[in-house]
Formats: sequence, structure tokens, C-alpha cells
Amino acid sequence: MAKPARRRKDPARVTAIVDGLRRLYPDATCELDHKTPYQLLVATILSAQCTDARVNLVTPEVFRRWPTPKALAAADAEDVEAVIRPTGFFRNKAKSLRGMARGLVEDHGGKVPRTMAEMLELPGVARKTANVVLGTAYGLPTGVVVDTHVARLSQRLGLTRQTDPKKIEQELMAQLPEEEWIDFSHRLIWHGRRVCTARKPRCAACPLPCPSRQAPSLVS
Ligand code: SF4
Repeated sequence: MAKPARRRKDPARVTAIVDGLRRLYPDATCELDHKTPYQLLVATILSAQCTDARVNLVTPEVFRRWPTPKALAAADAEDVEAVIRPTGFFRNKAKSLRGMARGLVEDHGGKVPRTMAEMLELPGVARKTANVVLGTAYGLPTGVVVDTHVARLSQRLGLTRQTDPKKIEQELMAQLPEEEWIDFSHRLIWHGRRVCTARKPRCAACPLPCPSRQAPSLVS
């Protein structure tokens, strides 16, 4: 994805959102437990359609049994499926994990690559996963992570009307300074989990400038 031209429809409001999120969650980071880029890549693949808390219950056993890409690439498919089953979609995820591990071993000397193009060639890795790993493990601002929380909150906050994650990401990249891309997505995810939840946003507890703010009587 080419870097979009900076387009800030309402720069003061975007800045107020960025600053407000920074004040609320100065230390926000990825909530998937990991110690290495490889572990974060495994955890992020497992996090599709699953909570981070549940992934964190499963990954210690995954990392114990298959501590390296080489070990995971050689793992038995049924063994991997059995261990990751609680995260859902376990057959597809096991296929992605073993394929990703083979890709790391065969094309990258067993290391997680550092570019978006190389990441996207790995089985089971799309932009969201690549942005999580490159941003959190390597500190590389390759884009903005757009998960379900970032998509929902970006719409509520009036930062986009798009529904396709790739288009949402393009619009966020165009409006946000590049140095904010990594932390902004962590903070928006934290806000989506703690305050602006899908079913019951706690607008009374939210200091962000937001066109979707609901009156207290509507959110009780
Ligand atoms: S004001 Fe309400 S809808 Fe808007 S971001 Fe805050 S919690 Fe979400």
C-alpha cells in the first residue's frame, strides 16, 4: 500500500483525538503475550476472531512445544490443531501457522522479516497481522492496525465512513502523523475494549471529541 498523501479534514479535531487517547492510555501496547517477533506473529494469527485473553491462555503451550519456526514447520498438523483449538477456526489457523513457519525457515533464515511486502507473502498474514508485528515487535510504522475496534471507533469518531479495513487504514494513514500510527491503534483498541464497546459505549466516561456521543439516557 503506497503511503497516502496527508489529508486532514479537520486537523484540530484529529489532534484532539490523538492527544486525548495519549492522555487516557499513555502506556497502551499490544495485549498479546510474547517475547519475540516469532511469538507475536504466532499469537496474532491465533487472535483472529478470538480475544487476546483466550490467546494468552493457549500460547504458553504453543511456545513450549514449538519454540522456533523450525519446530513449528515440522509439527504434526493434528497436534497443532489440538493445542490451538480453544482459539476457534483451529484447522485454518493450524494451516496458517505451519505455512508461516515454513515460509520463515525457507525464505528468511527462520527470522520474521521486517518489510510489509515480505510479511504479506507468508501464509495466513494479511495487513493487520503484518502491522501488529512490524509495529509492536520492530517499532516500524508500516501502517495502522485496523481490527474490529479500530474500525468501529474510527467510524464513531468521524475519522472515516469506510467499512473496508484497507480503505479505513488508508484514511487513517492520511490523517495521522506517521509517528502516531503504532500507538494510535494500540490506544484506540484499548479504548474500544474499556470504554467505547460495541454494544454499550460509555460516552459519559469518554473525553474524546466525538460526533457519535450518545445522551446519557440512551446509553444507560
Ligand atoms: S463519545 Fe461515546 S461513541 Fe464517541 S468515542 Fe466516546 S464512548 Fe465512543
